[in-house]
Amino acid sequence: MNYDFVIVGAGLYGAAIAHLAKKAGKRCIVLEKRAHIAGNIYTETIEGIPVHRYGAHIFHTNYRRVWDFIQQFGEFNNYINSPIALYQGKLYNLPFNMNTFYQMWGVTKPSEAMAIIEEQRRTHYVPEPRNLEEQAINLVGTDIYERLIKGYTEKQWGRPCRELPPEIIRRLPVRFIFDNNYFNARYQGIPVQGYTSLVANMLEGVEVLLEKDFLTERDYWLSRADRVIYTGPIDAYFNYQYGPLEYRSLRFETEVLDTDNFQGNAVVNYTEREIPYTRIIEHKHFVFGQQPKTVITREYSKTWKVGDEPYYPVGNGPNQALYEKYRSLAEGIPQVIFGGRLGEYKYYDMDQVLAQALTRAEMLELNSQV
Ligand code: FAD
Ligand code: UDP
Repeated sequence: MNYDFVIVGAGLYGAAIAHLAKKAGKRCIVLEKRAHIAGNIYTETIEGIPVHRYGAHIFHTNYRRVWDFIQQFGEFNNYINSPIALYQGKLYNLPFNMNTFYQMWGVTKPSEAMAIIEEQRRTHYVPEPRNLEEQAINLVGTDIYERLIKGYTEKQWGRPCRELPPEIIRRLPVRFIFDNNYFNARYQGIPVQGYTSLVANMLEGVEVLLEKDFLTERDYWLSRADRVIYTGPIDAYFNYQYGPLEYRSLRFETEVLDTDNFQGNAVVNYTEREIPYTRIIEHKHFVFGQQPKTVITREYSKTWKVGDEPYYPVGNGPNQALYEKYRSLAEGIPQVIFGGRLGEYKYYDMDQVLAQALTRAEMLELNSQV
């Protein structure tokens, strides 16, 4: 039997397409290289706590149709992400808002905070910032840049801020109100049963083969599929023929602690350069857990090489140019559709991945019922 769709990757993009294809009566199969479904949003239960194995994931979106779609697969709580930054023993609220400005300078009024930022950026202001440092100083001035951005960003991306694209920092809001809600999003929350359960529900009734690497059996699967939806790295698909795209990888150190509350918040960022990890996640706080123990994860950023997990696309100029070359190759094989964070080499959040998947499903005439 042949398949209408062979879907490579059981992450969010692959699972959403598989769900819609199945619902539309198409024959489909999902191949997943790892030993589990859910891609990078995989959660596993440790000490009764859903632990985010590949980094903390907070669902947030402004897209009503994405929120409606995801709600079908599990209940979400009302968690609001409010990370804290720790710099030289002092805590600062994130994102940058009046609480941060008060902690940084003792100012209590927006006009006072604006005046300080204005003063600090006066000598550095660049009308069209070309790199992250220029962009950050434009937005928040030098104090916040030096204490809360520079060290964290250079650890995270392994290169100086002047060599990074400005877009990375534009993800972070700057507000002159007292509001620690990290995301400017209308809808936000964490699935109460964990993300794995959410993806399992999406994949209900779909054939899934785990520990199956499509690329090692590529010809076989291409011969059995009308269309292939490929959500792995686009450069890997083409055997890195123009050289590998650059990613950042991560290393996670997870520990069970014999205390019920380690840091009092789900996310604490360590923004100084000297501390080797970027953040500590205390997973129970995402779901308001009351367990007697706690599970924490220290997150370390590391250089990526072929064979490592590619977590973050490094979207700077040379990599974008390289990606365009791979995209041209991809356009030459209409049987294969490249989707998701790795297939499109874009720093997508989960909701953007879902928005892309829903749009793609529409183009394939799969989601008339959504
Ligand atoms: P993936 O989840 O990477 O799925 C791709 C799947 O394809 C993987 O399971 C992989 O094993 C499989 N695969 C690859 N190659 C092959 C092959 N050859 N054969 C078979 N299978 C293959 N987003 C948010 O919205 N909020 C957050 O708070 C957030 N936090 C994040 C934190 C971190 C540390 C990271 C790295 C990302 C975060 N994201 C967050 C982004 C989020 O993880 C992604 O948007 C989303 O998981 C991408 O889904 P995907 O299906 O495109 O990719
Ligand atoms: N960032 C920073 N200090 C912080 C948190 C974030 O400078 O305390 C910068 C950093 O450059 C990072 C970017 O903002 O890469 C986006 O951070 P976010 O936590 O939103 O990204 P994630 O790693 O969760 O995708």
